[in-house]
Amino acid sequence: MPYFEPITGTGAERRDAFGATHNRTQPHRGGDWGFTNGSHRKPVTAVHDGIVTRVDYFAGMGHTVMVRNINGHEHLTIEYNHFDERSKLKRGDRVVGGETIIGLIGASGTYVQSKTAYHVHIAISTQPAPHMAARATLKDPFKLIDDHPATQPKKQATPRKKKATK
Ligand SMILES: [Zn+2]
Repeated sequence: MPYFEPITGTGAERRDAFGATHNRTQPHRGGDWGFTNGSHRKPVTAVHDGIVTRVDYFAGMGHTVMVRNINGHEHLTIEYNHFDERSKLKRGDRVVGGETIIGLIGASGTYVQSKTAYHVHIAISTQPAPHMAARATLKDPFKLIDDHPATQPKKQATPRKKKATK
């Protein structure tokens, strides 16, 4: 099953990689994405198919959604952090990689006041709560996406409406 980039469109970029140590007391536990122009409240879509296991708020992580992979290579939980507001998703909801909006990009739970504040942090683990998981169980999100790329974007253009015939 493919993995998708969580944000797309003008200015969407990968930022800090898994394991990055710059300006950190511990190596980065996930991967970060944001927009070069500092956009926020832009949709973050699922990087993989799954079932929502938790929608919550955590100190330092902000508005969070955890999704357990289905049909994956391993049983992994993908955690998305720092959304602008609580996700509309609920525990048990099915999400589709490349399609389902998990939340809106924000900076909740962060203390940085700059245009780079708005980002989504994604952590992936074989344990059910990646931000609390043992380091050895964490996966590199950029690498998972690169190793299992979606061959074509799932997002379809809105079909043009047929002219009504009277
Ligand atoms: Zn991060």
